[in-house]
Amino acid sequence: MQIEQETALGAYAPLMLEYVPAGIALFDAHELRLLAANSRYQDLLEPQWQHGHALGHRLIEFLPRAAYTEIAALFQKVLETGVSSRLEGYATPARLNGTRYWDYSLEPIAEQSQVRYVLLTVTEIIMQLQAQKIAKQAKTALAQAQQELELEQQRHEHQETILLSVRSIVEPQAFAQALLCAIDTCFSPHLLALYSTRSEQEKLSLLAFHTPESWLQETPVLPAFLVGTSGGSLLQAMQQRTPLIRRTSQERETGQKESRERDTLLALPEIACVVYLPLWRAQGAQCEGVLVAGFATEEELDALVVPTLSACAPHLTEALAETWMHAALADERQRLRTVLDQLPEGVILVEAQSGKVSYANPAAAGLLGYALPHLVGAPLNQSAMMSPYRFPPAHQQSAFRWNFALIHALWGKIIVNEEIVVSRPDGSEIVVLSSAAPIRTSHGLITEAVMVFHDITAKKQLEQQKNEFFVVANHELRTPLTAILGYAELLQLQFPEGADAMQRSAINRIAEECEHLIHLIHELLDVSRLEHARLELKKQYLDLLAPLSQVVITQAQTTSIHRLHLTLEELEPVACLMGWFDLLRIEQVIRNLLSNAMKYSPSGSEIEVGVRPRRDAQGREQEVMIWVKDQGMGINALDMPHIFECFYRATTFDRTSISGFGIGLYLTRQLVQAHGGRIWAESTKRQGSTFYVVLPLGPTP
Ligand code: ADP
Repeated sequence: MQIEQETALGAYAPLMLEYVPAGIALFDAHELRLLAANSRYQDLLEPQWQHGHALGHRLIEFLPRAAYTEIAALFQKVLETGVSSRLEGYATPARLNGTRYWDYSLEPIAEQSQVRYVLLTVTEIIMQLQAQKIAKQAKTALAQAQQELELEQQRHEHQETILLSVRSIVEPQAFAQALLCAIDTCFSPHLLALYSTRSEQEKLSLLAFHTPESWLQETPVLPAFLVGTSGGSLLQAMQQRTPLIRRTSQERETGQKESRERDTLLALPEIACVVYLPLWRAQGAQCEGVLVAGFATEEELDALVVPTLSACAPHLTEALAETWMHAALADERQRLRTVLDQLPEGVILVEAQSGKVSYANPAAAGLLGYALPHLVGAPLNQSAMMSPYRFPPAHQQSAFRWNFALIHALWGKIIVNEEIVVSRPDGSEIVVLSSAAPIRTSHGLITEAVMVFHDITAKKQLEQQKNEFFVVANHELRTPLTAILGYAELLQLQFPEGADAMQRSAINRIAEECEHLIHLIHELLDVSRLEHARLELKKQYLDLLAPLSQVVITQAQTTSIHRLHLTLEELEPVACLMGWFDLLRIEQVIRNLLSNAMKYSPSGSEIEVGVRPRRDAQGREQEVMIWVKDQGMGINALDMPHIFECFYRATTFDRTSISGFGIGLYLTRQLVQAHGGRIWAESTKRQGSTFYVVLPLGPTP
């Protein structure tokens, strides 16, 4: 078996060597002559030495000179040391595919402890080398990625610094300063400036600039220079959405000699490049400003500065636009404050969240008796106590009363013209007429409450005096008048013997005038009662038609000057109009309207009193309409809206010729309204007037 194996090895060893993927050669150790080699080794040699031509030749003969020294040294080493040796990654320039790399391995073969042969194995190391190359590439890529990552991180950090620096700044100039300072800490540029379009509609103006102090000292004209500088570049930057970068190197290259094309900032010797960053909102249609940054070197410009600033740009633009909006709002607020400060009425604003007085105008402080600084900022619930003033306990309750109006308003209530007695810290009291309302956001949230008030103490005092006068007048005038009337009536009953017609008419006149005066006094008293809500109706469930007809008939009999008649529409004379009435007051209403009709229409003219029921769908009487129609002077359109006001008299006639106080219609309307009814008038100048009264009927008790 062993013999067979050896025979096979002997026969096939050369063949096997041929298939080994390496060049194998055997050299004699003495002269380094090639004794045997497989064809893979021979293929590595120069063409003339291939195909067995090198066999029997020395290494020095067939190896190129350049390779020989290194390889021969390797042989030498093996021969000297007697141990194998390797040469890794040996490069040979290949004929076709560029440089090829090899591992040389030398194995000494000794016989009788002497090295007789040297076995050379040459392996091409394509795979390892490729792997090495890939690894190298990967390493480079990794390093690049690492570098890019670091840059990205740096960009992010700078971006954060810049954006954080302007957060919550609402004033444009302060915003610009903070921004430039932050950019300065990040990139240390030589020059920074921020131009904005807002302050002068559409036109760029310098908002702020930033340079090293030392440089500013050297270049004191810089601020002025910046104001007018770089017009061309600035305008060009505004037209584009990406940053515009000007470099001295570039200018030199393109040889921009034309001064208008040249960037003026680059003319400064310290500046090597300038970045113009146009500020656009993400969806904006207009450039809001330009950030200018000048640098001494171009280092880091493209990798760090420009990408960071570009990433910040939209956010900065939004924030800058917001500061302008804020500034406009502040201006508007200031304007409003100035107006409010000048108002004679007191105005107080209270913040809903804190419950503190956020604004009070001088008039408010004056009216409430506080010093303005004590009022503003004081909590509403104890503004009186917070002040240095101390109220006597009796005053404390009323001292807070004006606060209540505001508290109600904060709860959403609207208060209109409420009279409030204000006790002031000095112990005095005033009456104010106040209105208060909540201030809401567009979502309906109450953020503030406002109260407007003015002093009506003087008016109140006047009213008081007037009422006192009425009471005195009533007493002082009515007593003698009643006496005069009594005696006049007595005389009318018992005319003295021989009294002539003139005396009779004089006494009648005395009685008439007395009645008229007493009537006026009654009316004045009614007005006074009305104003103090002391006029009470004594309503009863009764028929209105009969007493109404009676008033008209009586009136028709007593007047000989006018022709008075009663018209009943849709009514039988015997019909009843039942409702809840204070009969005396309703008679007063009719008498007032009748007396006006007679007063303001010529002698002999006709006056109609009409009555018509108004029925519901079922034919039940719901209301009664009464009208008094004359053919008199009529009422001017300008006077029409005012005739029901107290003490109002039309301006169109001679007031001395027709007597009156201007309170008849006022009283009439109050009485009608107190019955739940309505009154109005229609009139045509010089043709006559009609007064309509509608009163509710029912309900059956
Ligand atoms: P007065 O005492 O002046 O009559 P009233 O209150 O009764 O006061 O009326 C107010 C004003 O309305 C009058 O001054 C007058 O100008 C106008 N007026 C009232 N009734 C008539 C009417 N029938 N015809 C024309 N004007 C009238």
